[in-house]
Amino acid sequence: MTQRRDFIFKLIPLAGAAALLPRAALADVPALTEEDGMAKAMGFRSSTDKVDQAKYPKHAGDQVCAKCLHYATPAADTAKCDLFSKIVPKGAWCSGYSRRP
Ligand code: SF4
Repeated sequence: MTQRRDFIFKLIPLAGAAALLPRAALADVPALTEEDGMAKAMGFRSSTDKVDQAKYPKHAGDQVCAKCLHYATPAADTAKCDLFSKIVPKGAWCSGYSRRP
């Protein structure tokens, strides 16, 4: 019985650390800026309203990172984009946009 209790008491701190890990890992991920070289090449804009429609005629106003397949956490205001491996705002856009099914 003592062994089981010891085992459980050892698991509790591990579970707490595991719960904090994704947030802590995200804190180390830099934010994507429009000045980033790859962002420029992909037409990244921090707001979908700022997209050059003449340059990207397939862009639509309802296309935002939060609806993109590459946006890691759809409900979050900011999340990691797995295309850039950087944090982007939910209302941003780039030419790599791919609608989440
Ligand atoms: S790939 Fe998707 S989530 Fe990433 S910046 Fe472009 S539109 Fe946003």
